[in-house]
Amino acid sequence: MSFPLPPGSTIGILGGGQLGRMLALAAARLGLDIAILTPDEDTPASRVAKTTFVAPYDDAEALAALAAASDVVTFEFENVPAKVVETLTRLGAEVAPGAKALAVAQDRVDEKSFLNAAGVATVDFQAVNSASEAVVAIGRIGVPALLKTRRDGYDGKGQRWIRDAADAEAAFEALAAPCILEAPAAFVRELSMVAARGRDGAMAAYPLAENHHENGVLRRTLAPAVASAATEAAAIAIAERILVGLDYVGVIAVELFELADGTLLVNEIAPRVHNTGHWTKDGCVTDQFEQHIRAVAGWPLGETTPLARVEMTNLLGEEADAWQTLAAEPGALIHLYGKRRAVPGRKMGHINRLKPL
Ligand code: AMP
Repeated sequence: MSFPLPPGSTIGILGGGQLGRMLALAAARLGLDIAILTPDEDTPASRVAKTTFVAPYDDAEALAALAAASDVVTFEFENVPAKVVETLTRLGAEVAPGAKALAVAQDRVDEKSFLNAAGVATVDFQAVNSASEAVVAIGRIGVPALLKTRRDGYDGKGQRWIRDAADAEAAFEALAAPCILEAPAAFVRELSMVAARGRDGAMAAYPLAENHHENGVLRRTLAPAVASAATEAAAIAIAERILVGLDYVGVIAVELFELADGTLLVNEIAPRVHNTGHWTKDGCVTDQFEQHIRAVAGWPLGETTPLARVEMTNLLGEEADAWQTLAAEPGALIHLYGKRRAVPGRKMGHINRLKPL
């Protein structure tokens, strides 16, 4: 494969959700086509893609078809089985970001071990593979502490606070999976750094975003976050260590805890475009979706300069039914994902409310 991919090339995406949809819309603007592989019919992404293969992610025939149709393959969620990337690579497909980024992001113990080895601070942690190991880990880390499944957790699912050492075994048994025990982060704010690395090794970072969650789900992002130059610089340095350490190509999101003394700890990384970067769609010269397409296609990275101060609010469940009112709001840009059914808490869209910088 020779990069940069010229207009008319096809980018394959594993996953058919709203992130795939917004990547496809960005690719279209650059004259690039999209092929989707998704297990579901009628997904948000497939309705704006050139081609869709509907099959399980590990379906050999579908992977061969995706590899044949695509000049490069990327993904819109991090729980793509490692075997799928191996298969695509064996078929001669170029996959970005690569297998290492996926492996690290899929396992919370491997993730924190990688981060610490790369010189990036996290909370203290310990792997917990049994109820008795939970007791030992609580003995060292103390209470309160947060027990999380190593794999497959999202939006705060698969987590239990242990507030009394006597509850350690029961907490492990309730999660019933290999776990990580984390010391509590006494954070004052949750921030995120969305950044990108191109095929030539060039890196670009967006301004920090401040994130507010409700019931474990992102509710609002305020960006650019009000942060000191030192905090911005520290976040950029963290992102760069991660991008280089993973030999990364594409957009990455780094979720951060800001402590009272200004220290930044990394909570987790997402090897993809991210909900906390949706503000860039209307708030920056180049948004995160176009940036990811540029990176994986070997194009030069775009400018990340902010154009506006944005409050991004997720539209969950039936909130998107108010689309007529929201669409009439001055200074606001509504994004709807075209999902057919509003389930309570489901991300149906978001709205970016713009103010001057
Ligand atoms: P996660 O699934 O790791 O993103 O965690 C979901 C949310 O739980 C985070 O956004 C934090 O609000 C909170 N959280 C996660 N880990 C910790 C921790 N070690 N200490 C305190 N809060 C945490």
